[in-house]
Amino acid sequence: MRLLLMGPPGAGKGTQAVDLATSIGGAHISTGDMFRENLANETDLGKLAKQYMDAGQYVPDEVTNGMVRNRLAEPDAAAFVLDGYPRTADQVVELDDILASLGAKLDGVISLVVEDREELVQRMIKRAETSGRADDTEEVIRHRQDVYDAETAALVPLYRDHGILHEVDGIGTIDEVAARIAAVVDSLRG
Ligand code: AMP
Repeated sequence: MRLLLMGPPGAGKGTQAVDLATSIGGAHISTGDMFRENLANETDLGKLAKQYMDAGQYVPDEVTNGMVRNRLAEPDAAAFVLDGYPRTADQVVELDDILASLGAKLDGVISLVVEDREELVQRMIKRAETSGRADDTEEVIRHRQDVYDAETAALVPLYRDHGILHEVDGIGTIDEVAARIAAVVDSLRG
């Protein structure tokens, strides 16, 4: 199964994506994790991404798209949960193209819904105490919410139009939200 897990920063997407990938037996493909790995290894890609990430901006599409194209061509990516990609309308088009070139398509898009912006910001400020992430300052956290609203929120209606969107209430414990996601996955399995 090929799934995309979406949601605003702080919605708990990363945690759920890891568990979901395990439960479908697929790869967890997080562009944020891939950038952080490059950053830790001080690769050219990491150095380039760092300036955008630290500011809470999106890394340019051509860089991100190339990285995802390579990753999805790897043998373990026959089934996957995409986490944090696509994030722009151009990336949606690119993803369709990458998958078409592999003879594949998305089976479903699960969108975690948390309407309360302040709830998200407070969750992230709490997470920042232990995350060690340079982009987890309150100012950058708030900016990342703005960037999500400006660039990524529009992907929700777009995937609704494609007929593959499944919205899940993102308020609750990790287990409660995971159970809602599992119900969607069951419905996709038919
Ligand atoms: P995340 O861990 O998903 O919150 O991503 C952390 C940072 O990595 C983001 O704030 C962006 O700077 C960068 N990033 C991750 N995914 C993408 C993407 N699909 N497009 C552009 N930038 C991204």
